[in-house]
Amino acid sequence: MYIDGQWVNAKSGQTREIINPFNQEIIATATEGDREDTKQAIEAARKAFDEESWTKTPASERGDIVQKIANLIRRDKEELAKLETLDTGKTLEESLVDMEDIAGVFQYFAGLADKDEGEVIASPIPNSESRVVREPVGVCSQITPWNYPLLQAAWKIAPALAAGNTIIVKPSEITPLTTVKVFELMEEAGVPKGVANLVLGAGATVGAELSESNQVDLISFTGGIETGKKIMQAASNNVKKLALELGGKNPNIVFADADFELAVDQALNAVFFHAGQVCSAGARLLVEESIHDQFVEALIERTKNIRLGNGFDQDTQSGPLISAEHRGKVEKYVEIGIEEGAKLVVGGKRPEQEELQNGFFFEPTIFTNCTSDMRIVQEEVFGPVLTVETFTSANEAVEKANDTIYGLAGAVFSTDIGKAEEVSAQLRMGTVWINDFHPYFAQAPWGGYKQSGIGRELGKPGLDEYTEVKHVFRNKQPEPLGWFK
Ligand code: NAD
Repeated sequence: MYIDGQWVNAKSGQTREIINPFNQEIIATATEGDREDTKQAIEAARKAFDEESWTKTPASERGDIVQKIANLIRRDKEELAKLETLDTGKTLEESLVDMEDIAGVFQYFAGLADKDEGEVIASPIPNSESRVVREPVGVCSQITPWNYPLLQAAWKIAPALAAGNTIIVKPSEITPLTTVKVFELMEEAGVPKGVANLVLGAGATVGAELSESNQVDLISFTGGIETGKKIMQAASNNVKKLALELGGKNPNIVFADADFELAVDQALNAVFFHAGQVCSAGARLLVEESIHDQFVEALIERTKNIRLGNGFDQDTQSGPLISAEHRGKVEKYVEIGIEEGAKLVVGGKRPEQEELQNGFFFEPTIFTNCTSDMRIVQEEVFGPVLTVETFTSANEAVEKANDTIYGLAGAVFSTDIGKAEEVSAQLRMGTVWINDFHPYFAQAPWGGYKQSGIGRELGKPGLDEYTEVKHVFRNKQPEPLGWFK
């Protein structure tokens, strides 16, 4: 852990073994912090914010340091990518793409650090000046999940530092490796002591302390909806600012006039990328009834050919699930789908190949004959499971697409751009893709409507999350009011 500029072990001496999900080998032993260590990290961040110079460091200098972090990530991207693949099982190719994206996120927020020009308001009061300035929020807790360990951390760390905050980061306890490595790079880049702190450990201890502490001004969390609700409650202790990136059950709408090959290709990528462990996975396919049979047939054909394996093998297209526990959850959902009457048309079980037996693999799975009221359609499985429903009109597609508690992302495939735009305007989601699925980048905001979250990461709104807005009013010719003479 990295607390107040020092590399330290947990005071309790506890440790946790970090497992490679491909073969269950122990790849590292991490120190396991608890509430005590967390309090110390919060204290360091508080002191660095209240007493030290980070907030007063010119924004351009903060930007320089954040840019250095981007450069160092690019320098070490091969090593970082290997660590991410070891820790998550995702393919090395995916991890390398993640590292480029991550460097891009630091670069983007480095560039934004000194671009705030404030605002002058047209004051209605004569002889006065009214202006708006943005200031850092203060001490920020940042809690991240296991599916994109470093990417999710980057979305939080880069804007928080660029805006002049101090931070305490808690990665998922099962995937801490790349976050630890990036803290080494942050030290090398010259982030001052106490400004960025790293605590490793469980949600119930470290995470809970980060959410409850009265010394923390903001909590930014990415993870599951139930954890998000707990954090919201804990954050109410001292009315912390709250940024939540929760789950999704994202619809992918395919009209009969879509480019067929493109839509099949993208539908597979939408749901099976990273074994479906993606918050924006296109896990709900809504396909126009007239092309349903042909579309599903093409999907099944290609799904059977998806090559599962070791993320380090070039042939591998999809790695394992993250843990035995998580695979158990996916299996439970497959049972639920069958009980509910959905038709299992491919997958639905663990693969039989000898070389995959030690990993947490699960075959890419498709259910047809699904209806909106099924749990398999409503709830986030977070695995390689696609449900297929049909529609006969654009209105029906929109109605079904919006019919979940989530609102993270969705897509529309059609060659009729007017229709696609009309449908996208009616989707209650933070991101809508037209004739594509999954693109996200540092320049565009990311976040959810409805129960998919509160606030936005990335883009200019991603920086705004880490700022307070101050209105400064100055009377140029003050005179007594005389009301209480
Ligand atoms: P999770 O909610 O179990 O854990 C996320 C983090 O919260 C971990 O670091 C965990 O230790 C911590 N945590 C657990 N209990 C806590 C508590 N009581 N107080 C404070 N912290 C606590 O989620 P996960 O299983 O790691 O990740 C999968 C979930 O993340 C999925 O639901 C997925 O949709 C979501 N996710 C969302 C986005 C997004 O951008 N919207 C991105 C990635 C993942």
